[in-house]
Amino acid sequence: MEYRKNDTATAEIIDIGQDGAGIGRTEDGYTLFVKDTVPGDRAEVRIIKVKKSYGYGRLERVLKASPDRTEPPCPVSRQCGGCQLQMMSYPAQLAMKEEKVRNDLKRIGGFENLEIRKIVPMESPFRYRNKAQFPVGTDRDGNPIAGFYAGRTHTIIPNPDCLLGCPENREILEEILGWMRDNRIPAYSEETGKGLVRHVLIRKGFATGEIIVCLIINGGRIPASDDLIHRLEKIPGMTGITFSSNTRRTNVIMNGPVKPVWGQEYITDILKSAAFGVSVRYQISPASFYQINPVQTQRIYEKVLELACLHGNETVMDLYCGIGTISLFLARKARKVIGVEIVPRAIEDARKNAQINGIENAEFYVGKAEEVVPGLEKEGIRADVAVVDPPRKGCDEKLLQTLVRMKPERIVYVSCDPATLARDLKYLSGNGFHAEYVQPYDQFSETVHVETVALLMRTN
Ligand code: SAH
Repeated sequence: MEYRKNDTATAEIIDIGQDGAGIGRTEDGYTLFVKDTVPGDRAEVRIIKVKKSYGYGRLERVLKASPDRTEPPCPVSRQCGGCQLQMMSYPAQLAMKEEKVRNDLKRIGGFENLEIRKIVPMESPFRYRNKAQFPVGTDRDGNPIAGFYAGRTHTIIPNPDCLLGCPENREILEEILGWMRDNRIPAYSEETGKGLVRHVLIRKGFATGEIIVCLIINGGRIPASDDLIHRLEKIPGMTGITFSSNTRRTNVIMNGPVKPVWGQEYITDILKSAAFGVSVRYQISPASFYQINPVQTQRIYEKVLELACLHGNETVMDLYCGIGTISLFLARKARKVIGVEIVPRAIEDARKNAQINGIENAEFYVGKAEEVVPGLEKEGIRADVAVVDPPRKGCDEKLLQTLVRMKPERIVYVSCDPATLARDLKYLSGNGFHAEYVQPYDQFSETVHVETVALLMRTN
């Protein structure tokens, strides 16, 4: 049968795609991608886009629910683009992520017998994010609202309580909206470029309870700041109120310096490993890059320490080091750590954090890992252990070639994309290393992302 836009069809959902949409088959074998469905569902679908061999549909009605289906606890989960898997039970999400790692390693990496350990789950799949960014706008009646952009649009859905974020966010936002209403402070409008308040950014240090707020404004100062301070300072944990000017008509949220309104300009968080007796304090400003799920991050870093197997006399390279979070963890147990990162601001944070912790054996370089590491090699510097934690596109081949020549005893690979992990492990396995095992972690429940740690050992 030929399908056309707006037709309805019945689809059996049999799989799930990269972006979390269910993959369904109609009775006559046409493939449909349908958001908000779960493998095992039978669904009535409205067709929204038709291509030759597949199409896209919108879920109209669940005719038969999959055993893995659950009621999304967030009332706006379907409109908001943030979560893709809220209608899937947590055990099913975990199984799906583990399977993705296994499949990619087999299909892309050619690994048939590589040990893939059970995914490490979160205690609770909600309220894990330490950072939230809410766009601010105006509703039809002229009231200020804060919430989320509806998936792939710039329409704001009011929702001051994202279930992935901390419970404090709601009260903070309500106070900010109250301050705007009472003082007639307008929200920014993307259409006209007028109005003041664009975004509210909130960060919490889970280990310390400290909270910092940053208002992104289309202007140079915060009006009625006494009222804002009065409203926010009473919230438990409030450590700093700041703002950042952004007067450009752009989608970039923050592009200027962060300025103080009240209290500190940063919060502190602590990551630690009881097993290794390591504890590191990090100063985080609203602009710093910092891992958003500190509980699972701490577990991953502890695993990196375990796999690095340090005795105290090693030189360790931490490549793609960000603000040096892993570097500083490793520095406590190694002779020397060399961190490499492309973003200069992040390296400033890394150096500052080394200082705060009295760590003197960590050195940081700004640049591309694939350029800095060959340079270090030329100077005769080699690593006994290398840690890599690249972005989704994985490691540059030039970096992998350099590691192959440098022959560290161990490479610990922290990955946020199993497909590029599989590609890079395949390269290293053919060039003097042996992949020992991989350990997936659920760091971002309700979303399709999966984090994986892999250990490679030198073979010759
Ligand atoms: N290890 C850190 C950050 C990992 S995220 C942590 O655990 O917090 C990946 C980092 O790689 C980002 O900070 C990004 O800026 C950096 N990056 C991206 N491409 C790079 C390259 N070619 N060389 C070095 N760093 C790079």
